[in-house]
Amino acid sequence: MSKVSLQRNVEIYDDADIVVIGGGPAGTAAAISGARSGKKVVLLEHSGQLGGMGTLGNVSIFMGVGNVTGIYRELVSEVMPNYLPQSHQGSIWPQYSPFNVRHYLNAKLEREGVKVYYHTSFVAAIQEGDTVTGVIANTREGLRAFLGRSIIDCTGDARVAQDTGVPTHSGREGDGLTQPMTLMFMMQNTGKPVKPYLPDDCYYYESINDLPQGRHLYWEYNNDGMLLVNMTRVKGNGAKIEDINHAEKEGLRQVFSVAHYLQRNGFETYTLSHIPGQIGVRETNQIEGMYTLTENDLTSGRRFEDVVAQTNYEIDIHSPDGKKTCDERQLSGYDIPYRCMIPIQVKGLLVAGRCISATHVAMSSMRVQATCYALGQAAGIAAACAVEGNIHLDQVSIPKLHQRLADQGVVFLK
Ligand SMILES: Cc1cc2nc3c(=O)[nH]c(=O)nc-3n(C[C@H](O)[C@H](O)[C@H](O)COP(=O)(O)OP(=O)(O)OC[C@H]3O[C@@H](n4cnc5c(N)ncnc54)[C@H](O)[C@@H]3O)c2cc1C
Repeated sequence: MSKVSLQRNVEIYDDADIVVIGGGPAGTAAAISGARSGKKVVLLEHSGQLGGMGTLGNVSIFMGVGNVTGIYRELVSEVMPNYLPQSHQGSIWPQYSPFNVRHYLNAKLEREGVKVYYHTSFVAAIQEGDTVTGVIANTREGLRAFLGRSIIDCTGDARVAQDTGVPTHSGREGDGLTQPMTLMFMMQNTGKPVKPYLPDDCYYYESINDLPQGRHLYWEYNNDGMLLVNMTRVKGNGAKIEDINHAEKEGLRQVFSVAHYLQRNGFETYTLSHIPGQIGVRETNQIEGMYTLTENDLTSGRRFEDVVAQTNYEIDIHSPDGKKTCDERQLSGYDIPYRCMIPIQVKGLLVAGRCISATHVAMSSMRVQATCYALGQAAGIAAACAVEGNIHLDQVSIPKLHQRLADQGVVFLK
């Protein structure tokens, strides 16, 4: 492939203790916990909103995860207190308004003293030798530099890590296929018959077998006539240019087609009420970290000395190869170690959220939002400890990290 070279002088726009890239569940939690550790934190977000797939991708539901602690529990208690379980072990499955969570996160990060830069996209890492010392981002005013003592990659795609040369892998061992993408949408009950609408280039689904997932998958938990639909499915890797180009068009075609099917099959009074601005991406890149979480760790319920998050969410793999199946297997609970967030080969960088070091099967369980909030919270504290001690991120004391997590409301089950 032919190349061009780019050499530019870029204005340093901000300088912080911690720079977080990506404002999804992992990034927002990392920014909050870093700020609560007394550090100056800036967060760079590609879009105009926080919450990642949870709001941008209209996921709008938290999968049931036992041991709900820390910032995630706080979010639930502040946005939807009725859903809060009695104990940390309690599992909840709340359906939420992505609009409310989006607004809540804006206000929350402002209150916590985090400077959020919206419409600011990571472009390139700044490195001194093997240490990441900042990033160049594309802002509304062009390229700007943001410097930091610790950098946390929460892009979901490990974009920062990849740029520094950290090895990554995608999808299944063997063929590299990732879980498919889904454009989640909402329908609203109008209380009167609605004329079904199907644009010309969409599909007429006759029966359940014709549907992209071959099943019904929707929720209407809140009794407000709002139906959340997770029934589209597009094969591909959302971090690949051509795959995402195709998925955005095909996902929208499926939205109209599924809505039309539902309007003829039980939802005659429902109208399409919300289609998010981008398709939901489940799985793209995983970094190679100091430890790689495996299927065996999940199924054996493995515990780690350097635990930073716990979950009992199931193995949940939407078929990567275009089939209509899902591989769903219950788990009793396992730990995720800190080392999964420490990339090999570079210093000054942590990676939190769905793109940590994990196999395809292991990521299918840890990828849900509650776990990503937990990982982000730990990453923010670890980054703060490294700044305070002027040490590398892999030298952070685990007892100290655990104490700081406990101070911030995180409880680990033994
Ligand atoms: C269709 C679908 C259904 C799902 N269902 C559920 C469910 O029911 N319950 C559940 O709990 N979880 C569910 N998940 C999983 C969950 O939503 C995600 O795995 C989780 O949001 C990942 O969090 P994250 O912070 O790692 O990354 P993301 O949520 O992907 O957030 C990454 C953020 O980084 C930003 N970003 C990316 N690149 C850049 C860049 N270059 N510069 C700056 N910012 C950047 C993005 O804009 C985004 O805001 C679902 C996911 C999908 C796609």
